Amino acid sequence: MPETAKFLTKYIDVPGIDTLEVYRQNGGYEALAKALKSEPDQIVEEIKKSGLRGRGGAGFPTGMKWSFLAKNDKPRYLCCNSDESEPGTFKDRMLMERNPHLLVEGVLITSYACRVKTAFIYIRGELPYAADQVQRAVDEAYEAGLIGSNILGSDYSIDVIVHRGAGAYICGEESALMESLEGRRGYPRLKPPFPAVVGLYGGPTVINNCETLCTVPAIIEQGGEYYASFGTEKSKGTRIFGLSGHVKKPGNYEVALGIPLRTLLYDEQYGGGILNDRQVKAVIPGGSSTFFLGPDKLDIPMDYESVAAAGSMLGSGGVIVINDETCIVGTIARAVEFYRDESCGKCTPCREGTYWLTELLERLEHGHGKMKDIDLLTSICGNISGKSFCPLGDAATSLITSGVRMFREEFEYHVTHGHCMVGGHHKHTII
Ligand code: NAD
Ligand code: SF4
Repeated sequence: MPETAKFLTKYIDVPGIDTLEVYRQNGGYEALAKALKSEPDQIVEEIKKSGLRGRGGAGFPTGMKWSFLAKNDKPRYLCCNSDESEPGTFKDRMLMERNPHLLVEGVLITSYACRVKTAFIYIRGELPYAADQVQRAVDEAYEAGLIGSNILGSDYSIDVIVHRGAGAYICGEESALMESLEGRRGYPRLKPPFPAVVGLYGGPTVINNCETLCTVPAIIEQGGEYYASFGTEKSKGTRIFGLSGHVKKPGNYEVALGIPLRTLLYDEQYGGGILNDRQVKAVIPGGSSTFFLGPDKLDIPMDYESVAAAGSMLGSGGVIVINDETCIVGTIARAVEFYRDESCGKCTPCREGTYWLTELLERLEHGHGKMKDIDLLTSICGNISGKSFCPLGDAATSLITSGVRMFREEFEYHVTHGHCMVGGHHKHTII
């Protein structure tokens, strides 16, 4: 099976693919037409067959999520989560900016499969061009009878609303996203009930990530079995990995799941090697909410199970590469500042803990820390992780716990020498 199969990015370089005309010339909306000729449950079955899992980060099986929708008489909703904000992650942005009709088609097929009559596309506030592109695609699709009443002459009607966020990371957490859509401050809700049971405006709601929805048309067109023939036994198909940090060719690459991390970093088609031909010090494999992997883990296959077995998570697919000239203490401090700033403040462990962690990390980074601060860091993490109201609290601790475990001597060097062991006062950080 060719490693280079493309389900998401096959047409991304076609000039004008962001217009309805060129999108249709390249087979666009044929999957929607095909879907409308099937029963909604058949589509759900096809997605189950494909083995597609959520690409936002958690990797929950998509077909299963759709079939969990409560069967009651309340209106059902679809929310596309395009609030992509995870540091190191920039794939949904690319898909929306360059091939917005692919997302619209995915939203329409999913809405039909889930018997949804109103769909929302929630786009991160800092991505105005992506929002403009998606809005334009939605407008074009309305005009062409692809959205609205009796689409493509069928008896199915659907409305699609593009919603721009206001710049809060927490609104990418699905329940905070629904609060925000309903016009309230983006505070997470208690789960369960899951959105599939009680979601937007109290109705059963399917919430999928943008990349997940963009994969749906190709699965309907080419069949779930074909999609499932790529990837590994439990991590099927392809996904887009975003390479950033110290690689020669940073960017988004669609590859079959299970590609060795080393190939992704060093192969000429992908990362092309480490910047300035330095050594890898660590890799964050799935966005800043995931744990460091050391250079001894470069041969792991990039699938959900293997990355978990190696001690981290595949997460959002944002692979951040850190070379041996980098200050790990400073890198962690920058990441934790982000979580401190983005903590919504609803629960104490995260609100107070991220502030405290940042204070300690900055003290250590600048050479004013004490030895006991290092254990204090991990102790605070133990009081945040698993004790916070939503996953943001846990996420704030992953780089600290794995960083202290793997690079303790670097923290200690900051205490004993007052500066970093790499590059003196002129060290680099990455995030
Ligand atoms: P989760 O595991 O709680 O849930 C995953 C999905 O499955 C949710 O949609 C949830 O509603 C659904 N689900 C789980 N159990 C269910 C059940 N029993 N019935 C019905 N539905 C069920 O994870 P999460 O909070 O959605 O996501 C966490 C991940 O998000 C992290 O691992 C992180 O990698 C990622 N993340 C991504 C970004 C980004 O910008 N892409 C930002 C922050 C975090
Ligand atoms: Fe808010 Fe953080 Fe608590 Fe989540 S863990 S509810 S972001 S304070």
